[in-house]
Amino acid sequence: MAELLSWTDHRVFTGSGEALIFGVEEASLFSLNHKAHETLLKWRSTELIDLDKTPLPDQEMLQGLRDAQILLPATWQKVCPTPPKPGQVPLSTLVLEVAQDCNLRCTYCYAESGTYGAAPCLLDPDTARQAVHHLLDNSGDHKHVTLIFFGGEPLLNMQAIRAAVSEAILYGEKIDKQVHFSITTNGTLLDSEIVAFLHDNRVSVAVSLDGPGHIHDHNRPDEKGNGTYTEIVSRLGVLLKNSPVPVAARVTLTPDQWHAMTEVYDHLIGLGFHEVGIAPVSPVNKTLLATHVQQTALLKGFESLADRFVSTARKGLVLPFSNLLDLLARIHLGQTRAVSCGAGFGYMAVDAKGEFFPCHRLTGQADFNAGSLAEGINTDSITSCLDSLNNGRSQSCSKCWARSLCVGGCHYENHLRENQLGLPRGTSCNFIRSWLDLGIRTYAELRSDGAIAAMGQRLEQRAQC
Ligand code: SF4
Ligand code: SF4
Repeated sequence: MAELLSWTDHRVFTGSGEALIFGVEEASLFSLNHKAHETLLKWRSTELIDLDKTPLPDQEMLQGLRDAQILLPATWQKVCPTPPKPGQVPLSTLVLEVAQDCNLRCTYCYAESGTYGAAPCLLDPDTARQAVHHLLDNSGDHKHVTLIFFGGEPLLNMQAIRAAVSEAILYGEKIDKQVHFSITTNGTLLDSEIVAFLHDNRVSVAVSLDGPGHIHDHNRPDEKGNGTYTEIVSRLGVLLKNSPVPVAARVTLTPDQWHAMTEVYDHLIGLGFHEVGIAPVSPVNKTLLATHVQQTALLKGFESLADRFVSTARKGLVLPFSNLLDLLARIHLGQTRAVSCGAGFGYMAVDAKGEFFPCHRLTGQADFNAGSLAEGINTDSITSCLDSLNNGRSQSCSKCWARSLCVGGCHYENHLRENQLGLPRGTSCNFIRSWLDLGIRTYAELRSDGAIAAMGQRLEQRAQC
């Protein structure tokens, strides 16, 4: 009996070069030559296709699309991978909130000046050591794991950081595992002694700096309301000089600053940062919700950095723009996910009292507490809090072309918008789709230039981090 084929969910991207077809289920990408694209357009509205009854040139083209799994037997049913359960996935990353306190008063801080809504406190060194053991003892077959020092301002508690690092080295050697360290700091407390420690231990540093003084100082004042740009920049030289690992600038911009994205990027690269990542602010209050014009400016900023990424790649160089590098790495490896991020699945946060949360951004919220170092991770709590965050989302996501790359979006962002601000579900989806669309188009351009092959190894390493 003749085999009838039907189309699987796909999206076609057209631009200056060859058209590209994106297979939604597997996040697979194939280029289409002119003839194949024409054939696709001609047959796309035919629900059931019998290849044996298709005229010859079209038959060959459609067979190619069948090989690419864009056409599959009509009887084919997608077998959804069973999502893992919390606790089944070994830990690979632990965020340690060493200081729930901060010396800055950033206007957009989601952590209430680093305290996460509680009395300011510091993690004691013994609990830091205990957290290191928890990470290594629960890391399964991973030979390399990551410990992230976070806050508040983590450099307020060098005692706990030093305790954690020396314990991680000692215990890691004993059980033949290696811990990679990273830290996100506001940069105001960096001095030569701290920098020597960070360099000696190859700690990857991300400094929160929002661009030139007139932008940064508006966002990130100190406790007295004074700008902090000059202070931070005066401390960068020693950090950037001879750093054994790349130093990144981590930018947060409010909607009224989104039009200045390229200015911010250029300024930070000019200061000597090795990489720059730019995040649109989370709307921690309704005044930070963006207008349509501001959202358009945000996308335009990303588009112009993507254009620059392509022209830089044509010269054989890589533009150190973290957002795009991360996305291209995922597209390059066709990384689809069963869950939106690692929160609760290999990624956990420990607060300054030794309590677990599935993500550092959910720290301090009783509904998301997931056990403690003393009693262990409570996987039932993780399951129920992630279920509550995902509740009702699967139906809208199942119809979305971006689902295999997005998988529902950021838990914290969804919780903030829907449960705290009372916005309808999906207010950030248009932007997410536009950003993924930009990433796929950029990838296609780089591929048709042959540039993606040249940076393949770098993207593969990045995707594994
Ligand atoms: S430096 Fe970080 S923790 Fe401190 S106020 Fe700013 S955003 Fe909040
Ligand atoms: S963009 Fe929105 S609808 Fe699409 S997968 Fe992400 S969260 Fe779901």
